Amino acid sequence: MTIKLSRGDLPADFAPGGAIAIDTETLGLKPARDKLCLVQISTGDGNAHLVQMDRTSYQAPRLKALLEDAGVTKIFHYARFDVAVLKHYLGAETRNIYCTKIASRLVRTYTDRHGLKDLVRELLGIELDKQQQSSDWGAHVLTEQQKKYAATDVLYLHELKSRLDQMLAREGRSALAKACFDFLPARAELDLMGWPEEDVFAHS
Ligand code: MN
Repeated sequence: MTIKLSRGDLPADFAPGGAIAIDTETLGLKPARDKLCLVQISTGDGNAHLVQMDRTSYQAPRLKALLEDAGVTKIFHYARFDVAVLKHYLGAETRNIYCTKIASRLVRTYTDRHGLKDLVRELLGIELDKQQQSSDWGAHVLTEQQKKYAATDVLYLHELKSRLDQMLAREGRSALAKACFDFLPARAELDLMGWPEEDVFAHS
Protein backbone atom coordinates (compact mmCIF):
# COMPACT_ATOMS: atom_id res chain seq x y z
CA MET A 1 0.00 0.00 0.00
CA THR A 2 1.25 3.45 -0.95
CA ILE A 3 -0.17 6.44 0.92
CA LYS A 4 0.15 9.85 -0.69
CA LEU A 5 -0.76 13.03 1.14
CA SER A 6 -1.53 16.45 -0.26
CA ARG A 7 -2.55 19.62 1.52
CA GLY A 8 -5.64 21.66 0.70
CA ASP A 9 -6.83 19.84 -2.43
CA LEU A 10 -6.26 16.84 -4.66
CA PRO A 11 -3.21 17.05 -6.95
CA ALA A 12 -3.98 18.20 -10.51
CA ASP A 13 -2.92 14.84 -11.99
CA PHE A 14 -5.21 12.74 -9.79
CA ALA A 15 -7.04 10.20 -12.00
CA PRO A 16 -10.15 8.83 -10.27
CA GLY A 17 -11.29 6.20 -12.76
CA GLY A 18 -14.93 5.14 -12.68
CA ALA A 19 -15.39 4.67 -8.93
CA ILE A 20 -13.59 6.01 -5.87
CA ALA A 21 -13.76 4.87 -2.27
CA ILE A 22 -13.98 7.88 0.03
CA ASP A 23 -14.03 8.63 3.75
CA THR A 24 -13.52 11.64 5.99
CA GLU A 25 -11.99 12.28 9.39
CA THR A 26 -13.31 15.12 11.52
CA LEU A 27 -12.89 16.43 15.05
CA GLY A 28 -16.18 14.84 16.10
CA LEU A 29 -19.66 13.83 15.04
CA LYS A 30 -21.38 17.25 14.85
CA PRO A 31 -20.68 18.76 11.40
CA ALA A 32 -21.44 22.36 12.45
CA ARG A 33 -19.07 22.15 15.42
CA ASP A 34 -16.41 19.61 14.49
CA LYS A 35 -14.19 20.54 11.59
CA LEU A 36 -13.38 18.37 8.61
CA CYS A 37 -9.67 17.53 8.78
CA LEU A 38 -8.95 14.81 6.25
CA VAL A 39 -10.50 13.29 3.13
CA GLN A 40 -9.26 9.85 2.11
CA ILE A 41 -9.69 8.49 -1.39
CA SER A 42 -8.75 5.24 -3.11
CA THR A 43 -9.30 4.32 -6.72
CA GLY A 44 -9.44 0.64 -5.75
CA ASP A 45 -5.81 -0.12 -6.67
CA GLY A 46 -4.75 -0.87 -3.09
CA ASN A 47 -3.32 2.63 -2.56
CA ALA A 48 -4.75 5.69 -0.86
CA HIS A 49 -4.62 9.42 -1.34
CA LEU A 50 -5.11 11.63 1.72
CA VAL A 51 -6.12 15.28 1.40
CA GLN A 52 -5.35 17.19 4.56
CA MET A 53 -7.78 20.12 4.56
CA ASP A 54 -6.80 23.71 5.01
CA ARG A 55 -9.17 24.30 7.89
CA THR A 56 -9.53 28.04 7.34
CA SER A 57 -10.60 28.33 3.71
CA TYR A 58 -11.79 24.88 2.59
CA GLN A 59 -11.13 25.93 -0.98
CA ALA A 60 -10.67 22.58 -2.73
CA PRO A 61 -11.98 23.04 -6.27
CA ARG A 62 -10.57 19.75 -7.65
CA LEU A 63 -11.97 17.67 -4.81
CA LYS A 64 -15.32 19.47 -5.03
CA ALA A 65 -15.52 18.88 -8.80
CA LEU A 66 -14.78 15.18 -8.30
CA LEU A 67 -17.53 14.87 -5.67
CA GLU A 68 -20.00 16.57 -7.99
CA ASP A 69 -19.00 14.53 -11.06
CA ALA A 70 -21.92 12.17 -11.68
CA GLY A 71 -19.68 10.04 -13.90
CA VAL A 72 -17.65 8.80 -10.92
CA THR A 73 -19.27 6.56 -8.28
CA LYS A 74 -18.39 7.49 -4.69
CA ILE A 75 -18.30 4.47 -2.41
CA PHE A 76 -18.69 5.38 1.27
CA HIS A 77 -19.31 3.44 4.44
CA TYR A 78 -22.05 5.45 6.20
CA ALA A 79 -22.30 8.07 3.46
CA ARG A 80 -24.91 10.03 5.42
CA PHE A 81 -22.27 11.57 7.68
CA ASP A 82 -19.57 12.15 5.07
CA VAL A 83 -21.96 13.68 2.52
CA ALA A 84 -23.22 16.12 5.18
CA VAL A 85 -19.69 17.09 6.21
CA LEU A 86 -18.53 17.53 2.59
CA LYS A 87 -21.57 19.71 1.89
CA HIS A 88 -21.08 21.80 5.03
CA TYR A 89 -17.36 22.46 4.56
CA LEU A 90 -16.75 22.28 0.81
CA GLY A 91 -20.23 23.27 -0.36
CA ALA A 92 -20.13 20.06 -2.43
CA GLU A 93 -23.25 18.37 -3.77
CA THR A 94 -21.96 14.81 -3.85
CA ARG A 95 -23.41 12.86 -6.78
CA ASN A 96 -23.52 9.15 -7.66
CA ILE A 97 -23.30 7.77 -4.13
CA TYR A 98 -22.99 4.16 -2.94
CA CYS A 99 -23.11 3.30 0.76
CA THR A 100 -21.79 -0.06 1.95
CA LYS A 101 -23.59 0.34 5.31
CA ILE A 102 -27.02 0.75 3.69
CA ALA A 103 -26.30 -2.12 1.28
CA SER A 104 -25.31 -4.25 4.25
CA ARG A 105 -28.50 -3.40 6.16
CA LEU A 106 -30.58 -4.33 3.12
CA VAL A 107 -29.01 -7.76 2.64
CA ARG A 108 -27.31 -8.89 5.86
CA THR A 109 -30.62 -9.16 7.69
CA TYR A 110 -29.22 -12.06 9.72
CA THR A 111 -27.12 -9.68 11.85
CA ASP A 112 -27.25 -6.21 13.40
CA ARG A 113 -23.48 -5.73 13.00
CA HIS A 114 -22.96 -3.36 10.08
CA GLY A 115 -19.70 -1.64 11.08
CA LEU A 116 -16.88 -1.50 8.52
CA LYS A 117 -14.80 -3.86 10.66
CA ASP A 118 -17.67 -6.39 10.75
CA LEU A 119 -18.22 -6.21 6.99
CA VAL A 120 -14.54 -6.53 6.12
CA ARG A 121 -14.18 -9.48 8.50
CA GLU A 122 -17.23 -11.39 7.26
CA LEU A 123 -17.15 -10.66 3.54
CA LEU A 124 -13.39 -10.40 2.92
CA GLY A 125 -11.89 -12.36 5.82
CA ILE A 126 -9.63 -9.45 6.84
CA GLU A 127 -9.20 -8.14 10.39
CA LEU A 128 -9.10 -4.31 10.56
CA ASP A 129 -7.29 -2.43 13.30
CA LYS A 130 -9.55 0.36 14.59
CA GLN A 131 -7.17 1.70 17.24
CA GLN A 132 -6.60 5.17 15.79
CA GLN A 133 -10.32 5.82 15.25
CA SER A 134 -10.48 8.41 18.00
CA SER A 135 -7.32 10.43 17.59
CA ASP A 136 -6.54 14.10 17.02
CA TRP A 137 -7.18 14.52 13.31
CA GLY A 138 -6.60 18.28 13.70
CA ALA A 139 -2.86 17.77 14.21
CA HIS A 140 -0.82 19.63 11.58
CA VAL A 141 1.46 16.64 11.11
CA LEU A 142 -0.32 13.29 11.24
CA THR A 143 1.50 10.27 12.65
CA GLU A 144 2.30 7.28 10.43
CA GLN A 145 -0.28 5.27 12.40
CA GLN A 146 -2.96 7.89 11.76
CA LYS A 147 -2.19 7.93 8.04
CA LYS A 148 -2.26 4.15 7.86
CA TYR A 149 -5.54 3.98 9.78
CA ALA A 150 -7.14 6.67 7.60
CA ALA A 151 -5.98 4.94 4.41
CA THR A 152 -7.22 1.55 5.57
CA ASP A 153 -10.77 2.92 5.80
CA VAL A 154 -10.93 3.30 2.01
CA LEU A 155 -8.87 0.29 0.89
CA TYR A 156 -11.62 -2.34 0.96
CA LEU A 157 -14.72 -0.44 -0.13
CA HIS A 158 -14.50 -1.42 -3.83
CA GLU A 159 -14.31 -5.12 -2.90
CA LEU A 160 -17.13 -4.73 -0.37
CA LYS A 161 -19.27 -3.04 -3.00
CA SER A 162 -18.83 -5.89 -5.44
CA ARG A 163 -19.71 -8.50 -2.78
CA LEU A 164 -22.72 -6.47 -1.59
CA ASP A 165 -23.88 -5.87 -5.18
CA GLN A 166 -24.01 -9.66 -5.66
CA MET A 167 -26.04 -10.05 -2.47
CA LEU A 168 -28.40 -7.20 -3.42
CA ALA A 169 -29.00 -8.83 -6.82
CA ARG A 170 -29.55 -12.23 -5.19
CA GLU A 171 -32.20 -10.77 -2.85
CA GLY A 172 -33.83 -8.63 -5.55
CA ARG A 173 -33.03 -5.41 -3.67
CA SER A 174 -30.68 -3.59 -6.08
CA ALA A 175 -33.29 -1.01 -7.11
CA LEU A 176 -34.32 -0.37 -3.50
CA ALA A 177 -30.68 0.13 -2.57
CA LYS A 178 -30.21 2.60 -5.43
CA ALA A 179 -33.29 4.55 -4.31
CA CYS A 180 -31.84 4.74 -0.78
CA PHE A 181 -28.45 5.91 -2.09
CA ASP A 182 -30.14 8.56 -4.25
CA PHE A 183 -31.97 9.90 -1.17
CA LEU A 184 -28.71 10.42 0.75
CA PRO A 185 -28.12 14.08 -0.25
CA ALA A 186 -31.58 14.95 1.11
CA ARG A 187 -30.97 12.87 4.25
CA ALA A 188 -27.69 14.71 4.81
CA GLU A 189 -29.36 18.05 4.28
CA LEU A 190 -32.04 17.19 6.87
CA ASP A 191 -29.20 16.43 9.31
CA LEU A 192 -27.52 19.76 8.60
CA MET A 193 -30.75 21.75 8.78
CA GLY A 194 -31.82 20.43 12.17
CA TRP A 195 -33.71 17.19 11.69
CA PRO A 196 -30.95 14.75 12.67
CA GLU A 197 -33.09 12.36 14.72
CA GLU A 198 -36.67 12.96 13.59
CA ASP A 199 -38.04 10.63 10.94
CA VAL A 200 -39.89 12.94 8.56
CA PHE A 201 -41.76 9.89 7.24
CA ALA A 202 -43.08 8.98 10.69
CA HIS A 203 -46.79 9.18 11.50
CA SER A 204 -46.23 10.62 14.98
MN1 MN B 1 -12.69 6.78 8.78
